Order: sequence, then structure tokens, then C-alpha cells
Amino acid sequence: MATPAEARVDLSAIRHNVALLKEAAGGVEAMAAVKADAYGHGLVPVTRAALEGGAGRIGTAFVREALALRAAGVTAPVLSWLITPGEPLDEALEAGIELSAFDTWLLDEIAAAARRTGRPARLHLEADTGMSRGGAPLARWPALLDRALALRAEGAVEIVGLWSHFACADIPGHPSIQAQLDAYEEALKLAEQAGAAGSEVIRHMANSAAAVTLPAARFDMVRLGIALYGLSPIPEQGDFGLRQAMTLVARIALVKRVPERSGVSYGHVYVTDRPTTLAIVPIGYADGILRHATGRAEVLAGGRRRRVAGRVCMDQFMIDLGDDVLSAGDEVVLFGPGDGGEPTLQEWADTLGTITHEIVTRIGSRVPRVHLDGPPGAGAVTSGEGSGT
Ligand SMILES: *Cc1c(COP(=O)(O)O)cnc(C)c1O
Repeated sequence: MATPAEARVDLSAIRHNVALLKEAAGGVEAMAAVKADAYGHGLVPVTRAALEGGAGRIGTAFVREALALRAAGVTAPVLSWLITPGEPLDEALEAGIELSAFDTWLLDEIAAAARRTGRPARLHLEADTGMSRGGAPLARWPALLDRALALRAEGAVEIVGLWSHFACADIPGHPSIQAQLDAYEEALKLAEQAGAAGSEVIRHMANSAAAVTLPAARFDMVRLGIALYGLSPIPEQGDFGLRQAMTLVARIALVKRVPERSGVSYGHVYVTDRPTTLAIVPIGYADGILRHATGRAEVLAGGRRRRVAGRVCMDQFMIDLGDDVLSAGDEVVLFGPGDGGEPTLQEWADTLGTITHEIVTRIGSRVPRVHLDGPPGAGAVTSGEGSGT
């Protein structure tokens, strides 16, 4: 390792997780959600690993993310579900990207792109069944269906999927879950009556949490995000046999002895209570180590847990080694699967009062993602790349 910090991503864990989740979901089709640089894990290598693990489809939030996959040579079906007016839809259709449509203005833009390019758009129509985020509310669903069917008659679009998304699938027993399932069934019935729900149409609603806990929500496909990365979609229910893919490490830049009563880092919120040894860890809030980790989060260094001592800075933070002897260049593990006694991502999330999704997606572009074909320490490096690619 020749960089101050790096995120090691075990691609064998990604493959394991997809296979496990597919089986848990009764073998239905799996879409790998790789938005936000594959939740910070590196878009292209993770996508390839997910496909190898058994995912048949790929999902991104934005068209740009899908175009990046095509530019990297990924040929599997890719769906993008969050589109704003004026986006490069011609390019999307030419790249064979499937598009979600959630309003008639968007259908019209997609149809215009289809006419310009001569490429019928492959659509997934999105119903808002109760999250009040994307999707057409049921009151507008018939109008969306009508417009889509008119465009299909014209040859501008094909209807490939009918889908929705849960608000509370990670809160088992939440009353909105059944209400959303009922609303989705209603949306499907309306689509069927309108002639938009042929047997080839993919019905999909489940995210990771629903995939592992709600058989009734599987339909034809599950969309796997957080669980793909080996992070529990419902931490209160354990890890579901998932394997955390990411290990975040940094190398100590400087070790020094300081006297008793030394104030450490900005604001001197940490003051040494004895002569001690400090180590400078070169990763900071610009790299996604939340300032909120100050005095809270723990890391593994020299075989022992140490708490972040003093404020997290933009590029670095300090740990207090006591009288332990470590050297510049020694590795500090911020989090990993936990096998070596290091904190897991779930532990970091619990300590910081957030969810693992937020921690992994905020790891900055200065931290290279290094892809391994096995757990760190065992596996060979398959690729190293900057994030955001
Ligand atoms: C992010 C996302 C997913 C994956 O969600 P997880 O809870 O991470 O599994 C699935 N579907 C849509 C529409 C999403 O935006």
C-alpha cells in the first residue's frame, strides 16, 4: 500500500452476497443497485462481481451512472430511475439503457428521444404506492399508463417493467408495508386492465430489506443495494449471513511522544492525562470520516482498539497509543468485516448515529478503492482505481 489510505473491497464477498440473497429471495431475478459509485465501493468492478454472482440486471439512480457502465463495456441490462428534464436521453437510448418513467412529461421526453434516435425506449413505469418519493401516485397512474400505451402503439416505447419502492421495509411489521403492497397490487391490476402488464413485464418492488424478510414483495425481481455490500438491511435482525465487502485502512504518518496535559487537535477537546504517544492517521472529514467521529469512533491499531482522540480534521485525525510502540507506515484499520477485531461498519454507524449507507457513500475520491479477490490479507489485488469512475 503506497497511499495514505485506501478502501479495500473484497469482490468475493459481493459475489457471495448476491448468490445468498438470490437464494433467500426464492431464486427470482436480482438487480444490483450500484448507484453512487456502487455505494462507494467502485462502480465497475462491483458491477462485474455482482453479475458474476448471479445478478441479471443493474440499477442506477442517474443516467450518467448507467452511461459510465456502458463506457466500461458492461452489456447487461441497466435501468436508471431518477431523471430530470433535459437529460441526455438520446445517448441513453443509443446505449440501450432502460429508463424509469414516473410522469407524463418524462414519457414525452423519452418518446421524443426515441423518435430522434429510431430506438424504442425500454420503460419501467414507476408507481408511488405510499413512499411519496418517485413514481406516479395512484391517482395519476391511469394517465401514465394511457400515455405509455399510446406511445407503445406508435412504436416509440416498450413496457418492460412496472415497479415501486418501499418506505419502511426495514421496519418489519410497519403498517405501511402491507398498505404499499396493496397499493402496488392495485397498480398492477390497473396496468393489466389497460393492457400494459403482459407476462413478459417485470414486476419489482423489493429493496434489500424486503428481499430478505417479505416473500410477498418479491414478485419477479428484487433490487439489492445495501445487502449486496454485505451490510445488514435490518441491523436489529443480525447480518443474514452477509459478508461486509469493504475494509478501510490508513497508514500512520507520524508517531510522537507528548507530555501530560497536551491539547490535541483543533479546539483542544482532547487533552492528554499523562505522557503518551500520539499517532497521526492521514484520513479526515474530506474523505468521509465524519467530524462527529471525534471522541467516539474506534479504530484498530497495533492489535488494539483506540478511540479518535481530538477533533477529526479535514485530512487527518489522531489516536492516543499510550505507551504502545507503533511506527510511521503501520496500518490502522478504521473498519472491516470484524474478523481481526476491527470495528465493523455497523459498529461505526451505531456509534455515529447513522446508517452504514451514509458512511460508505461518503468516502471521498481521494481514497483509492482497491479491489481484491478475497478478504484483505488473503486475496490478490484485481484492480486499483480511484473512486468516482
Ligand atoms: C437504492 C435503491 C435500492 C436499493 O436499496 P437498498 O435498501 O440499499 O437495498 C432499490 N431500489 C431503488 C429504487 C433504490 O433507489
